[in-house]
Amino acid sequence: MSTATLTVDLGALTANWSALAAMGRAEAAAVVKADAYGLGAARVGRALAKAGARTFFVAVTEEGAALRQALGPGPVIYILSGHMAGDADMLGDMDLTPILNSLDQLIRHLEALPGHPFGLQLDTGMHRLGMEPSEWTAVRDIALAQSPQLIISHLACADDLGAAMNTDQLATFRQMTAGLDCPLSLANTGGILLDRAYHFDVTRPGIGMYGGMPFEKARPVVSLDIPVIQCRDVAPGDAVGYGRAWTARRPSRIATLSAGYADGILRCLGDRAAVWADDVRCPVVGRISMDLIGIDVTDTSRDPKSVALLGPLQGIDTLADAAGTIGYEILTSMSARYTRRYLG
Ligand SMILES: *Cc1c(COP(=O)(O)O)cnc(C)c1O
Repeated sequence: MSTATLTVDLGALTANWSALAAMGRAEAAAVVKADAYGLGAARVGRALAKAGARTFFVAVTEEGAALRQALGPGPVIYILSGHMAGDADMLGDMDLTPILNSLDQLIRHLEALPGHPFGLQLDTGMHRLGMEPSEWTAVRDIALAQSPQLIISHLACADDLGAAMNTDQLATFRQMTAGLDCPLSLANTGGILLDRAYHFDVTRPGIGMYGGMPFEKARPVVSLDIPVIQCRDVAPGDAVGYGRAWTARRPSRIATLSAGYADGILRCLGDRAAVWADDVRCPVVGRISMDLIGIDVTDTSRDPKSVALLGPLQGIDTLADAAGTIGYEILTSMSARYTRRYLG
């Protein structure tokens, strides 16, 4: 077998969810959009449901339909993109609840699926999705007459403790929902960690469950082991890989790994990343190819059979820093080609 193996520790994932849930009195939902941040929405969703999650969020209706098939009837599945043209049958048949983002979506929903549950999103300053204060003033009486299940908004700077934007959005959300008798939801992972004032009735953790920052105390959830195809000795002055981008300065042992940028291992990591052979750090050498990566294994005691790009010694945020990105993108870039193994 030469594909890399992505191991997902579902026990760690559900423990992270429970830890975030225990930070307040709100109901903790679970955000499993983008195939549970690349880890597999069916397996992740079932593990979370077993751990007690009753409410899930996905980005689009098709993801909701797949999740409903995995979870069966019972859990509430919210669709963050709302009710898009052509969605009515799937929303109805699969018992999915759209979060309506605009007057257009509200009209579409009430016409196509009268009496079918829905939520609403308000824009408190992020200017991405949801009804702005003026639109909300015009629409709220019609919307509230139909008893929305949940009203949400989303924080733009929740991972920045000191950002004034957080308190501004909190104040705007409070103003826009003052006096309403409807469950409210504002906090993603960062919002949960900010302060209990952000929790309201339902929290929406995503990245923290998957072991990413800003949840510093998260247990790591993913490891990625990549097989070695071949090892060779190179002499000082020999170059490795495309463009001769790396040249040996000492007699070196080079291993070639079976993974590359086609697997979501960003090409820009070429001169910055390392992998681990047990507890020996092996720098990536030369350019990352589509399906192959060269590493320097000179300091290992014997040729490794496989190495860890993600594991106990290197988490998603370390790799993200090396790539100039965020843990979310490391996770969602992970290849469909990897063999997936689930623990717990
Ligand atoms: C993705 C998302 C979340 C989860 O955010 P994390 O930072 O991963 O916890 C919550 N709410 C909305 C609206 C989202 O789009």
